[in-house]
Amino acid sequence: MRIVVTGGAGFIGSHLTDALINQGHKVVVIDNFITGSRKNLEHLKDSDHLMIVEHDITKPIYLAEKIDRIYHLASPASPIDYQKLPIQTLKVGALGTHNILGMAKNHNARILLASTSEVYGDPEEHPQKETYWGHVNPIGPRGCYDESKRFAEAIVVAYRDYHKVDTRIIRIFNTYGPRMRLNDGRVVPAFISQILHQHDITIFGDGSQTRSFCYVSDLVRGIMGVMEAGDQNPINLGNPSEITIKEFAEKVISITGSESKLVYQPLPVDDPQRRRPDITRAREIVGWEPKISLEEGLINTLKWAKENV
Ligand code: NAD
Ligand code: UDP
Repeated sequence: MRIVVTGGAGFIGSHLTDALINQGHKVVVIDNFITGSRKNLEHLKDSDHLMIVEHDITKPIYLAEKIDRIYHLASPASPIDYQKLPIQTLKVGALGTHNILGMAKNHNARILLASTSEVYGDPEEHPQKETYWGHVNPIGPRGCYDESKRFAEAIVVAYRDYHKVDTRIIRIFNTYGPRMRLNDGRVVPAFISQILHQHDITIFGDGSQTRSFCYVSDLVRGIMGVMEAGDQNPINLGNPSEITIKEFAEKVISITGSESKLVYQPLPVDDPQRRRPDITRAREIVGWEPKISLEEGLINTLKWAKENV
């Protein structure tokens, strides 16, 4: 198939591009490199299965050759990135998703939207099921990202119902692995980078807030599974194994044997207190289950980080 990956030069998008090319597909990456990098696709530079189009998808784009599938991942994703780029973040979820849905309609291509657990906000339901509508502050520091993705889901559903475009929606929970920018502010690269530089480890709040971390290869397998399965309603993808941020810091310290100390800083406004996906739908519809333990995933990520610090 000929497959478009928007945001294909980013962390998840570049791993997805690798997996699609490994399956023999031709991939067109559309990316403006605002938070991604050509370096993430450097190893594919001689592949005739990859074409890179440098373009900001908030502006229309027309591709001549027939497209069969579109994975729509373009968006700043880390809290530091989207708070630095609030207008670009809102525009890519709204105008960008609109343009890419237009592309799906023109090519009669199936499109998958990469949405997020952030649509649940600081959740009052735990673990989070897809039926939960969320608890989002639209005017808080996370509003630009959360509402951008909520709008994106709404316009995807509108194109599905009004234009009969074949759509998929996934809600990704915290995912980590090689190629995350070590300074993107997310907790996994932040702690790894602090340890590699022998700095203190910054815990925001008292560290009792929880997250559930999914290794990127597990996620990519899930994304491709959802695309080829028949269900058009949102599907959570993430690892249901939940851990507090303090326990997570201690785990990274014990794996690395680091002597870094924990230091406590104020909890950011609207930081979700608990997050864990209910993945019953992914299990039933796709037969998907994460396989990589946090230890194994962290060891792989640390190895990569050491080579790239
Ligand atoms: P990333 O920042 O590494 O990748 C995003 C990519 O989108 C970058 O290459 C960036 O340059 C590109 N992009 C942004 N705006 C664009 C625009 N206007 N036009 C073209 N390209 C643009 O982030 P990531 O972690 O790989 O996230 C990928 C997707 O998955 C995002 O949509 C994100 O919201 C979603 N997601 C990620 C996680 C996670 O834990 N990593 C969790 C939930 C959702
Ligand atoms: N966090 C932290 N120290 C850091 C970076 C993040 O304690 O140096 C916390 C953050 O407050 C949040 C969790 O780690 O509770 C996950 O943060 P991240 O930015 O990775 O993503 P989020 O899940 O909040 O979008």
